[in-house]
Amino acid sequence: MLSEHAMRSGNRRAFLAQSVGASMGVYLASPQICPVFAERQPIDYTYWDTHVHLTHAWYGSDRGPVTADHLLRWIDIHRIERAAVLPLVSPESFWYPISTDDVLRETAEHRDRLIPFCAIDPRTVESHLTTPAEVEGMLKRYQDAGARGFGEHKARLPINAPPNLRLYEACSKVQLPVLFHLDNAANMDQPGLPGLEDVLRQFPQLVLIGHGKGWWSSIAGGIQQSDLQVGYPKGPVAPGGALDRLLATYPNLYGDLSSSGAHALLRDKPFGKQFLERWSDRLLFGTDYYDLQQQTFLQFDLFDELDASPEVRVKVGIRNARRLLIGDST
Ligand SMILES: [Zn+2]
Repeated sequence: MLSEHAMRSGNRRAFLAQSVGASMGVYLASPQICPVFAERQPIDYTYWDTHVHLTHAWYGSDRGPVTADHLLRWIDIHRIERAAVLPLVSPESFWYPISTDDVLRETAEHRDRLIPFCAIDPRTVESHLTTPAEVEGMLKRYQDAGARGFGEHKARLPINAPPNLRLYEACSKVQLPVLFHLDNAANMDQPGLPGLEDVLRQFPQLVLIGHGKGWWSSIAGGIQQSDLQVGYPKGPVAPGGALDRLLATYPNLYGDLSSSGAHALLRDKPFGKQFLERWSDRLLFGTDYYDLQQQTFLQFDLFDELDASPEVRVKVGIRNARRLLIGDST
């Protein structure tokens, strides 16, 4: 797939051949050593990335900032046509808040490549945005400024806590998909994900995109409360996982393959391959890139490792995100 912006970044193949060989799972971390491309040629994009972050400088100069210019170079290197840029506003979600305004401002000149999301900490609906009209009004302002989704939703409350329900209701009204992080520290739930099911039942029109350790460990059955906090569980997937059951029951539910997502599918490749095929209309490629020190992403090897068909690659890699985020069903 080509875009009018493919010419911007020039000779990707030559760069890859010189710098990272055949592996798409490796990239050069420092923006200083990202090349200025001299030649220009189209890029064959493979992905839309539904989960990246912009950051300020933190932990010294080696981990940030991740600027819009850096992201544009990084997504070109990795054959990502567009990336959803997610704020992190809750105190539990990151080392410091990344505000919706940060994301809207930094992406403003690059909306053809960087798709802004918005976020509101759920506790705000108890202190300031105390009526549904106020919550919807705030979300509509963000939408008018370009936001295409809500998240990364990551506050230390049960996933179906009353303030969260009020946010979901408003997101459903204004039709913003919600990307949520679920583990034992944010959007908490129990094994089997009954809290999430409560939300799905209450808001059948709301697109919910699952992410995080607890979400992805729920690919397996027979798990304990502590398993919802394990980043990369290993070994065969026990049958009876909540994800298959919920995806089969609620057509508004999706999964984001960033971070622990690729690990969940690769821990048991026969199961992972079938899961990817089974839910190829409901899974979204993503990386959760936020740190210049992040060196490898299993996501870029996932389709090859699972020997995914061309149809699955294009659906999970691009098409599902395009449909959800910009309403393009082609
Ligand atoms: Zn994230």
